[in-house]
Amino acid sequence: MDVSQNLAEIKTTIEEACSKSNRNSNEITIIAVTKYVTIERTMEALNAGIVDLGENRQEGFIEKYNHVGKQVKWHFIGSLQSRKVKDVIDKVDYIHSLDRLSLAKEIDKRASSTVDCFIQVNVSGEASKHGLQPNSVMPFIESLSDFSKIRVVGLMTMAPHTDDKVLLHKVFRELRELRDEIQGKNYQHAPCQFLSMGMSNDYDIAIEEGATHIRIGSKLVGSDR
Ligand SMILES: *Cc1c(COP(=O)(O)O)cnc(C)c1O
Repeated sequence: MDVSQNLAEIKTTIEEACSKSNRNSNEITIIAVTKYVTIERTMEALNAGIVDLGENRQEGFIEKYNHVGKQVKWHFIGSLQSRKVKDVIDKVDYIHSLDRLSLAKEIDKRASSTVDCFIQVNVSGEASKHGLQPNSVMPFIESLSDFSKIRVVGLMTMAPHTDDKVLLHKVFRELRELRDEIQGKNYQHAPCQFLSMGMSNDYDIAIEEGATHIRIGSKLVGSDR
């Protein structure tokens, strides 16, 4: 399928989810996750109007970045090894996977200006998932005030791979409630206004629960590398 056709369908679903939850679709950023696809397919996404791209590995990111450059916003969405921070830090616009102090230290040391970060939270508690336990998030954010180059712009989670809509609503709602709690603290280094949640199989539910950034790979650009 054409990326533009896929995008049109996704936008229809976004509108439906927004009207269900009394939201405005202009609050929602679609991040095209290009980790599965070629540069040609990535360029197709840009031609279709995509302006935010996501990659989950340093190698894939650098390959795409070298081709596409700064004409888009770059979202680093995968787990980031501290030793690779220096290779990506001044190229990415957002890091969605901040989940430990050692990584924060490395980002703070290597970045030449403020970096917008999402804290990754393991809401579902699955052992296979990265991210902080929900009850560790607030103390973690407090400890980040020492790092002048880190700005916490939001929280990110990956929901379990399931068709259980009740469970998906619950996971996304829990992240939103945690975000609201942090926002209420008015931390200067952590405005925490965004929610990065929702992928190909669950973005409609994530939007109903307040997602501001949805990360869509297979349903938008495909998974055919
Ligand atoms: C791969 C990936 C996505 C996109 O997954 P799809 O199910 O193909 O939409 C979103 N977020 C993260 C962190 C990913 O690694």
